[in-house]
Amino acid sequence: MAGPKALVAGNWKMNGLTAELKEVRLLADMLKGVRLACDVMVCPPATLIRPVVQLLSNSRIKVGGQDCHAAAAGAFTGEISAEMLDDAGCTAVIVGHSERRTRYCETDAMVKDKAEAARRAGLTAIICIGETLEERESGRTLEVVSRQLAGSLPAGFASDDTVIAYEPVWAIGTGRTPTRDQVEEVHRHIRRDLIEKAGEEQGTGIRVLYGGSVKPENAAELLDADNVDGALVGGASLKAADFIGIIKAYA
Ligand code: PEP
Repeated sequence: MAGPKALVAGNWKMNGLTAELKEVRLLADMLKGVRLACDVMVCPPATLIRPVVQLLSNSRIKVGGQDCHAAAAGAFTGEISAEMLDDAGCTAVIVGHSERRTRYCETDAMVKDKAEAARRAGLTAIICIGETLEERESGRTLEVVSRQLAGSLPAGFASDDTVIAYEPVWAIGTGRTPTRDQVEEVHRHIRRDLIEKAGEEQGTGIRVLYGGSVKPENAAELLDADNVDGALVGGASLKAADFIGIIKAYA
């Protein structure tokens, strides 16, 4: 059975000034007329969401946020709600990225609340999970991703509102990647967990992305692995030529 339609999403993190929007304009131009078997999304910093949404209004590229608060509104200085992202033109939001889990001490319970906020606002939650190097080396990878998954999934999640991104922490921004066998082992395990929790139809329909040092040079090999339904891309999503090189794994 064919898996879900793939998604290639670019996480710009805290990068991007107005002057650099030329890259996303270039990306939209380069994708014009290209037949793609995947959806494409960019997740700019909050300050650029509006201009990027406007710039991409005639393209197939969707726009997502990088994080959201669990509440819809209130006295939370500096925070952005899922409703605000929806209002700004986003269709999705990344939650539980390892940088938020480690640097801002976000727990599974907090990630779950954020994923629930995304559903409430009608956004797709891209829920990130993944083990540290120490956890992998001590043979706890599968246990860790199962625990994160169980703790982070919102109640009533479904294939049209939830995406999982498996991102081994040790592969993010390091240039190191797991082998294809290692990716397949974890994705197979995540798929089994999803089917157990949501049933065969929903569990097989949820997209499970791989993330961690995906580049044009390794995209074809990593993204062709079993149960890999696309990629969450950090550094290589900042330059149109690199991001296109990854997207073309699905051309
Ligand atoms: C990420 O931060 O989600 C990521 C995958 O980063 P990179 O592609 O730079 O490793």
